[in-house]
Amino acid sequence: MVYKTICKVCPVGCEVSITGKDPNTITGNRCGRGGEYIYKQVMGKSEVLTGRMPIEGGIMSKIPVQTSEPLPSDLRDKILSEINSSKAVAPVKKGEVLIENVLGTGVDVIASRAMKKRG
Ligand code: SF4
Repeated sequence: MVYKTICKVCPVGCEVSITGKDPNTITGNRCGRGGEYIYKQVMGKSEVLTGRMPIEGGIMSKIPVQTSEPLPSDLRDKILSEINSSKAVAPVKKGEVLIENVLGTGVDVIASRAMKKRG
């Protein structure tokens, strides 16, 4: 099946198409970013998911977190709810794994920044 879309990465708006999920069949893109754009669309719009996790004993009540790899965006709500119901404990280092293998995806939730202990 041929899938067509307008690339929205820049204002040029190329009409890009792909057959199935084969990246070798991508046409219509004037640059590589358009190929990447449509490929992510057919693969389920993967993206690095971000959120804020409650933290105990930190200088702030929540710490910014992100997934270690891109995941399909339709998992966003489930992962955000998992992040909201978890709790990190200060101090935390940038890149520290706060949830390992979140929801069995094989991807971790990591701290996007360091957080010192309060006091
Ligand atoms: S394929 Fe490249 S040139 Fe075309 S709209 Fe996308 S980013 Fe712009």
